[in-house]
Amino acid sequence: MAWRCHGNTNLELVQNMYKAQLIKSDEVLKAMQAVDRGNYCQRNPYEDRPQGIGFNITISAPHMHAHALELLKYQLQPGMKALDVGSGSGILTVYMALMVGNDGSVVGIDHIKGLIDMAQENIEKDGKDHLVKSGHIKLTVGDGRKGYPGGGPYNAIHVGAAAPTLPQDLVDQLAPGGRLIIPVGPEGGNQSLDQIDKDMAGKVTRQQLFPVMYVPLTDKDKQWRGKDE
Ligand code: SAH
Repeated sequence: MAWRCHGNTNLELVQNMYKAQLIKSDEVLKAMQAVDRGNYCQRNPYEDRPQGIGFNITISAPHMHAHALELLKYQLQPGMKALDVGSGSGILTVYMALMVGNDGSVVGIDHIKGLIDMAQENIEKDGKDHLVKSGHIKLTVGDGRKGYPGGGPYNAIHVGAAAPTLPQDLVDQLAPGGRLIIPVGPEGGNQSLDQIDKDMAGKVTRQQLFPVMYVPLTDKDKQWRGKDE
């Protein structure tokens, strides 16, 4: 199902994901329609696959973005705060920012400065620079395993790379009622998409959702030794 959603345009891709029920809600549909993946990925942007975008990483497949947004939609309500760890192309950061709206905010963090610069350029190409200028999106260079305490606590945290183990700092930065979606497992091995929920009393529960394959959440030098800007 996931791999049959290719389109010739962004709208076709998104509509195909809606028909296949990968996108289930109006909020996610609206956000994914409003962001043209062609501005975040040079090669075959309307295919439902990950694509290399340099720096040894990929932009995730559209159906994975759709899943993540569906899983986080109650934590991405208007006015809420989100953290996008491993923001890469910046596309998911923008989807999240559109969902939390004018009263909400999203921090996108990546450890490669060249990717933060690329995300900024992509956002400009997509005509969404006002979200950065107004402070609704903050893009920052740093080690995402430590989160970004200054922007939290967060209702929603998404991690776009697989962590060998669950980073406690991210759990600590979840607000009561918050949800963290993170792939966990070894590089190139058995990884599962995990959902971590913190209830209103601060109690944390963890569920494994389904097997996935993501690039690693790792040290900057292990990922990319080239010049990063
Ligand atoms: N959601 C992004 C995913 C990009 S791939 C997209 O769809 O475009 C994963 C990203 O995680 C890469 O950009 C990589 O640079 C970043 N990353 C890996 N380890 C990291 C770390 N320790 N801290 C911050 N970012 C990291």
